Amino acid sequence: MNPTATAASDAATAVIEVENPATGAIAGTVPEQGVADVAPLVERARAIQPAWWGLGFDGRAEVMRRAQRWTLDNADRIVDTIVAETGKTRDDAQLAELGYAGAAFGFWAKNAAKYLRDRKVRVSSPMLIGKKALVRYRPRGVVGVIGPWNYPLVNSFGDCIPALMAGNAVILKPSEVTPLTSVLMAECMAESGAPDGVFQVLTGRGDAGAELIDHVDFVMFTGSTATGRKVAERAAKTLTPVGLELGGKDPMIVLADADVEKAANAATYYSMQNGGQTCISVERVYVEEPIYDEFVGRVAEKVAKLRQGRPGDAGSVDVGAVTFPRQAEIVAAHVEDARAKGAEIPVGGHLRPGPGRFFEPTVLTGVDHTMDCMREETFGPTLPIMKVGDAEEAIALANDSEYGLQASVWTGDVARGEQLASRIESGVANVNEHLVSYVALELPMGGWKESGLGTRHGAEGIRKYCRQQSSVVSRFGPKREIFMYPYSKRTARLIRGFLKLLYGRGPKE
Ligand code: NDP
Repeated sequence: MNPTATAASDAATAVIEVENPATGAIAGTVPEQGVADVAPLVERARAIQPAWWGLGFDGRAEVMRRAQRWTLDNADRIVDTIVAETGKTRDDAQLAELGYAGAAFGFWAKNAAKYLRDRKVRVSSPMLIGKKALVRYRPRGVVGVIGPWNYPLVNSFGDCIPALMAGNAVILKPSEVTPLTSVLMAECMAESGAPDGVFQVLTGRGDAGAELIDHVDFVMFTGSTATGRKVAERAAKTLTPVGLELGGKDPMIVLADADVEKAANAATYYSMQNGGQTCISVERVYVEEPIYDEFVGRVAEKVAKLRQGRPGDAGSVDVGAVTFPRQAEIVAAHVEDARAKGAEIPVGGHLRPGPGRFFEPTVLTGVDHTMDCMREETFGPTLPIMKVGDAEEAIALANDSEYGLQASVWTGDVARGEQLASRIESGVANVNEHLVSYVALELPMGGWKESGLGTRHGAEGIRKYCRQQSSVVSRFGPKREIFMYPYSKRTARLIRGFLKLLYGRGPKE
């Protein structure tokens, strides 16, 4: 496999070699595009964007439906590419990545017009009686999408779909660690009838991503909080609006009345799925004292049984590789920090010797908030479990974090669970569920605190890719409104009377 970005400049001679993290072999190469390549790509995008918008929602939806079909017709190629550049299991690639893309093409093709059609608004001002008020949504122009390495299809290409359906041209800058899937999706869009230049891939490093910010009309960034800050700073220079989907440290709270087996299965799966490299993985668990020992015992048993290794056929392994070399160092450092501060590690705890980069599925107990594994994003196959006295302590600890992406409460009392979930400071807070809420494309998903700005999915997930235009339309009316020139004492008195009638009848002191 040696795919080439359709957007590659002919002048680009340098290449980026993409490593297969499960084997250490080279999975493919892409042209290394740099700062100088950005302006020509954006120019091309700007030239074609009006024609793409001119196709209308139905015309764009047709392209998306063909792309949806293409994605499933080419499922093996897509899954092979994702597995090769991330080292994740085939099962993770199929369910989370292919499954998401398949659904998202159809969802936005169907719902974009509903969310973006001109929206009539009832206004309350008496000055506008008899007039029509509405909001129009118009594409911003060229959208830059900058994506991370953990989900090359979901979190890089996934955000391009609503941006395109809104009528924008899109330039996608995937992570230099995993650019191959994005290149494949450029092929998908071209073969599905997207006009040349409407969707382009910029295969470069961080500096190319930074340059892109200066040229586009909106930036959708998914990645770490540290880089998200840099993106916001850069965008401030041109006052370019940004959407930021950043890191997380998702807490799971397990109350004494929870179904322990169900909660243990969920904790195991949602912490280890995708090798723990999911922004909304379970990163820390708080368990009420009466069921703590039983919960830890069950989780440890389940995690110890997980099969890890080089991804083969579907069903051959449960946990794949660590995609990004630096991430393996962070995971190891968090485990060592916890060990040094007194944590116990009943399962796992080590980076396995190569070939490939595999960190053992790991359970940590006896942890507390002095440890990095409870405060910093670990982003690996680790599960720290902490005992708490009651739900109040669990909520306080869950909120003791700079992050606020997602959380879950597990309990037999759903009403109490909902009440507790509503007190957690995060963009998503589920009851007896964890990350499956991501597939509810109707629900806004986004972070509070340092986990982000804005949301993806739902109405706001596509309206953000538009400029809003408000409009008041008058069909009939007098030749001169009463408040217009010439001003007079009589009119002023009349207006005062009206104001008093309308707004001056509140409760007396
Ligand atoms: P990074 O922040 O390191 O990189 C994200 C993207 O930004 C990459 O394409 C990177 O390019 C690019 N980039 C680097 N520097 C700049 C810059 N100065 N200006 C513009 N772009 C730049 O994130 P990771 O790839 O390490 O992804 C993991 C992170 O993503 C985790 O924190 C995770 O929680 C978060 N994430 C959040 C999600 C959410 O929905 N909230 C979903 C998925 C992941 P290059 O790689 O080439 O350097």
